[in-house]
Amino acid sequence: MSSALTIAGSDPTGGAGLQADLQVFAACQLQGSAVVTALTVQDSAKVHRVLPVFPSVVLDQLRVLLADTPPAAAKLGMLATDDVARSVQLGLADLPAETPIVVDPVLAASDGSSLLESRAERVLLELVGRSALVTPNLVEAERLTGIDVSTRSGCERAAREFVEAIGAQAVLVKGGHRAGAPDDLLALREGASIQYEWLEGERFEGGPVHGTGCALSAAITAHLARKKGLRESVQAGRLLVAEGIRDALSIGSGARRLALPGILP
Ligand code: PLP
Repeated sequence: MSSALTIAGSDPTGGAGLQADLQVFAACQLQGSAVVTALTVQDSAKVHRVLPVFPSVVLDQLRVLLADTPPAAAKLGMLATDDVARSVQLGLADLPAETPIVVDPVLAASDGSSLLESRAERVLLELVGRSALVTPNLVEAERLTGIDVSTRSGCERAAREFVEAIGAQAVLVKGGHRAGAPDDLLALREGASIQYEWLEGERFEGGPVHGTGCALSAAITAHLARKKGLRESVQAGRLLVAEGIRDALSIGSGARRLALPGILP
């Protein structure tokens, strides 16, 4: 029985963080496990508080879990602090090198609340260097590479930086924050070269939807755990998120929530 692991923050609303990841794993018909890195106090409108888990407890969760039920793939979400990120890095040493890791380089929530202290960016980049795929949005891509991503060629330069200099096997630069068409850029290491593929996105009306980045990286992780190829996994993840945004549900006073397959409104 394969399973996927999420190492992420808790979002009590269930719309983002590890609660969303586990629901996406289930929607992809996969067992899930979760190591919590931080608690948040939040509702659909904003993040009220962030409380990192003790780093030693993060490390313990990972070590105990990996010794007993190693996952077929793992994703990293919110890491909160430098010490927590280092514990995750230490714990992941017990994960076989061939197990794919997807890194969602979460820096902040949509309301602007920080979900990663800035001094943790160095260790985040080291984790990205061990990843099969990193999934930055435009803000994260620009912040982590220092490259202006406002043009398509800038995006391609940033993608090359993630693969060549930082060491990721592949990168999906998400275009949702772009003013025009929300196309994504997938760049993959292929032998000695890098392949760039622009993937067309569709913009749906109706305002913000919470936790789309979490759901995308979780769905890709679920498909990788099922031994699907990277391109196929990215395609399946993008489809789940596009359909989820199209049918998004209003539950609170703030952002809407992604509709997941198999969940009735
Ligand atoms: N809370 C947690 C625990 C998260 O991991 C994330 C995003 O990764 C968020 C909140 C923010 O979600 P949004 O970008 O939809 O505000």
